[in-house]
Amino acid sequence: MRVWIAGAGFGRGRVLDAEEARVPALDHGITVGDGVFETVKGVGGEPFALTRHLRRLARSAAGIGLPSPDLDLIADGVRQAMDANSDIQAARVRITVTDGPGPLGSTRSGGEPTYIVAVGEFGEIAPTADVAVVPWTRNENDVLSGLKTTSYAGNVVALDYARQRDCAEAIFANTAGNLCEGTGSNIFLVLDGRLVTPPLSAGPLAGITRELVLEWAGGDEADIPMAALADASEAFLTGTGRDVQPIRMVDGRALPAAPGPVTRKTMEVFTERGASDMDP
Ligand code: PLP
Repeated sequence: MRVWIAGAGFGRGRVLDAEEARVPALDHGITVGDGVFETVKGVGGEPFALTRHLRRLARSAAGIGLPSPDLDLIADGVRQAMDANSDIQAARVRITVTDGPGPLGSTRSGGEPTYIVAVGEFGEIAPTADVAVVPWTRNENDVLSGLKTTSYAGNVVALDYARQRDCAEAIFANTAGNLCEGTGSNIFLVLDGRLVTPPLSAGPLAGITRELVLEWAGGDEADIPMAALADASEAFLTGTGRDVQPIRMVDGRALPAAPGPVTRKTMEVFTERGASDMDP
C-alpha cells in the first residue's frame, strides 16, 4: 500500500510505501488522540462526496481546537494516494489529521500538523446487518459529541461487544434514553410508515450518507425512545462503507422485514443518485 503523508518531516506531502510513512513517536495523534479523520469511498478511482467530507473534517478540527487543516493540500493528497493505489476497486480512503509531534505532557504540539491519506479496500457490503445495543450510553453533551476524532476507543470497545454477539454493528443510546447511532453508522427506523432518524442534538455524527438519504429520500429527524426499536417495521444503517444497509435483527430479535419497502426504495434512490453525482 502507498500512502500520502505531509508534515512530520515530509513537508508538503510525499507518496511512500506505508512502511516508510512513519509518524514520530511523540505525535499528539498517538500520545493523546489529538486528531480528526474522515473515511471517504473511492468509486472508479474518484472520491465520493469529497467536498462534504473535507467540510466535516474542518468542522471536527475546529471542534477540538486544531488549526484549520489545509483542505486544498489534503484534496491533492487524496488524489495522489488514490492514483498510487489505482489497482484498488472499492477504495476506503482514510484521511487523518493530527496536531503533529510535540513535547510529552504538553496539551498542544505547537508544531506542524501531520496529514495522512491511506487507501485500502472496503470489504463486501453484507446484504443485511444484525445489531446489538450496548448496555452503556453515549453522552450527547460530551465535548467530542458529533466530532470525528481519532479518540475512537469507545467505538472500538462497542464494536467488540457487538462482534462477541455475532453482530456487525453496535448501537448506542444517549443519556436521555433515546437512540443515538452506531460505531461507524447512523440509524434510521420506519415507525408507523414514517422514516425517522435521531437529530444531531441526540449526539450522532453528522453522517454524510445520513445527510444524503435525508436530502434524496426524505425522512424526519426526531428523538426516538429506545423502546421504539421494538415497534419498528424496518430499520437500516447508513455509512460510507455500507451505504444503506437493512438491519435484520436487533439484540437477537428479527425485524418484520429486511429490507422492507421503505428501505428498498431508499437503497434504490441512494444508488441511482449516488451514481449520477460523485460530489453531491
Ligand atoms: N457515526 C459514526 C460514529 C461514524 O464514525 C460514521 C462514519 O464512519 C458514521 C456515523 C457514518 O457517517 P458517514 O455516512 O459520513 O460515513
